[in-house]
Amino acid sequence: MDDVFNRQEENRIQAASAGGKSAPVLREEREKALDSIRGSLIGGAVGDALGYPVEFMSWNQIIVKYGLKGILKYAPDRRTGSAIITDDTQMTLFTANGILIGETEKRLKGVHKPITEYVHQAYREWMLTQEPGADVIRMDHRCWLFEIPALHVPRAPGLTCLAAIRSGKMGTTVKPINNSKGCGGVMRVAPVALYYRPETDEDRRSLDELGAEIAAITHGHPLGWLPAAVMTHMIGVGVYGDGAKTIRAAADEAWQTVRTIYRGRVSDENLDAMEKLIVWAEKLSAVEGKDVDHIRSIGEGWTGDEALAIALYCCLRYPDDFSKAMIAAVNHDGDSDSTGAVAGNILGAFIGEGAIEEKWKTDLEMLPVITQMADDLCHGCAAAGDGDCPDENWLRKYRDGHA
Ligand SMILES: [Mg+2]
Repeated sequence: MDDVFNRQEENRIQAASAGGKSAPVLREEREKALDSIRGSLIGGAVGDALGYPVEFMSWNQIIVKYGLKGILKYAPDRRTGSAIITDDTQMTLFTANGILIGETEKRLKGVHKPITEYVHQAYREWMLTQEPGADVIRMDHRCWLFEIPALHVPRAPGLTCLAAIRSGKMGTTVKPINNSKGCGGVMRVAPVALYYRPETDEDRRSLDELGAEIAAITHGHPLGWLPAAVMTHMIGVGVYGDGAKTIRAAADEAWQTVRTIYRGRVSDENLDAMEKLIVWAEKLSAVEGKDVDHIRSIGEGWTGDEALAIALYCCLRYPDDFSKAMIAAVNHDGDSDSTGAVAGNILGAFIGEGAIEEKWKTDLEMLPVITQMADDLCHGCAAAGDGDCPDENWLRKYRDGHA
């Protein structure tokens, strides 16, 4: 796996260094991806923020409170007036921060630790933001996000994530940390697909596996991390594909690839369960009927496989209409903010930030931080691999850990 990431970095260096022959092409290509990268990160945050007020409400409770069509717009926080994001977006941002610290260290010092270790460390810092009394300024930390006071707020953090991270151990797909198939793994892995640009099928497989490993840090059941591999693949097609593939084609390609990777490593029972849900979501998306009824027949989204399938259903149902897709993704009995977040990450990667209506961005909490992180994922570290980096801003954030 390491080879792929090294090659990725070589390309990035070429893109960053002025004289390289392929530099302008690569830089241009990355710039082309910016709209999709922002679309995915912001899209996920929108779905998360729209779904948060109804996360623990049944559909009946939702219609009693918000009317027969459910929640159709943000229910902003009374105190701040903004639509607040939850642990889904917080952890997605920390995933990105961990990846970028690791890749920067690799460039500056030639250190080659697995990226999952940096992400794990970033999650430990996220965990501290969820606990009262963590000193924002004085505490030892490596993530610049840790210095953002607005992130030091518990937003119904997943208990599985907290327990796994608190244990100090890092789960992997081979050495599972627990038997959880909760959706807390899949809802945070988008940055893998946003940062690394696959060029070969082997790259794509490696990235799918990295997505799975990052989910497996806290979620040990295959149905907790397989969906993360599928999501990573799909978002990769959306951001770095040639634009010719539909979301359905991307989902099919993603599943075929992931199934092939894990055949023999994961029981047929789990692979079949995942496949059944994906096929069902695809089928339902073309059937007339109410979204809430269709989603109910997929599940509630508390588990990774169901969250991915519900998100997929919504993206396939409304591939050109971000608002409708988000509204469908959060109005149901289940885990609305996570299904909203996953749907937003996927659809945003395909349609780009430009296709997300302004109303969703205006009041979104942390939008400047989310946008900055998207831009950093797009541009990457400009260090030349010999310890030199001309970008002081970058070093402050990803070497020194300051906002
Ligand atoms: Mg949440």
